[in-house]
Amino acid sequence: MSGAGGARVVLVLGGTSDGRALAALLHPLPGIHVVSSLAGRTSAPVLPVGETRVGGFGGVRGLVGWLRERAPAAVVDATHPFAARISAHAVAACAEAGVPLLRLQRPGWTAVPGDRWHRVDSADEAARVLPALARRVFLTTGRLETAPYAHLDDLWFLLRSVEPPTGELPRACEVLLARGPFTVGDEIALLRDRRIDAIVTKDSGGALTAAKLTAARELGLPVVLIRRPEVTAPERVTDAAAAARWVEGLAVGA
Ligand code: NAP
Repeated sequence: MSGAGGARVVLVLGGTSDGRALAALLHPLPGIHVVSSLAGRTSAPVLPVGETRVGGFGGVRGLVGWLRERAPAAVVDATHPFAARISAHAVAACAEAGVPLLRLQRPGWTAVPGDRWHRVDSADEAARVLPALARRVFLTTGRLETAPYAHLDDLWFLLRSVEPPTGELPRACEVLLARGPFTVGDEIALLRDRRIDAIVTKDSGGALTAAKLTAARELGLPVVLIRRPEVTAPERVTDAAAAARWVEGLAVGA
């Protein structure tokens, strides 16, 4: 099935600024009908232009069903670097349905002189290394991933998230609800005000949330950086413009 006016459907698995940027690039192109898919995690998401659908597909089987019904010319997986399940589902479902798949993933952050980064593989490992590094911790790993720190009774936490946390929290914890981008000046002021002595973050990459890393460097604070999960995708690009060119190339070759 095609989109409005016989245009070819392109499914963008989104929920990120890269996904929105790609939808904005594809939407005006003649012959392409972009459908963005959001997981539905946030109550007031910033919506991309074009058609959107919200909610899980129902695993690999559900995604294969959607691909068979809408017969997209391509899928671009622009989900967050830590959304490993949907990315793995996209790889399996696109292989089964015979749909070309591109992974759009921004690069991770790179340390520069002055950074004191401790790279770890998981939130559990971050929780294990923290007591040797700090007493007052700035936790920016998201509202759903607080449980691994909940038993650290000797540490104080500042937890910043877009929406209120729902999981188990550490005993001594302040919750700060805020949505980026944040400036380096704001981050330095926050770190000083709460007398933070270490930061925990995921290696999300991108400019929107990088100010905290610059602030940590300027204050000489250690950062515990959780590595990205590995998902093997057939083809990859690192920015929305390159993804749009890949889609246009498929359309020309069709
Ligand atoms: P996940 O663990 O990879 O996915 C869990 C389930 O949520 C998937 O199996 C799928 O359900 C559904 N899902 C995820 N992304 C979807 C999408 N774009 N469209 C439709 N269904 C989707 O992902 P997550 O960590 O829960 O993240 C959910 C969404 O939030 C992603 O789109 C991601 O880009 C965004 N996000 C995640 C993070 C993070 O740190 N994880 C940060 C910022 C934004 P079914 O199996 O039922 O299809």
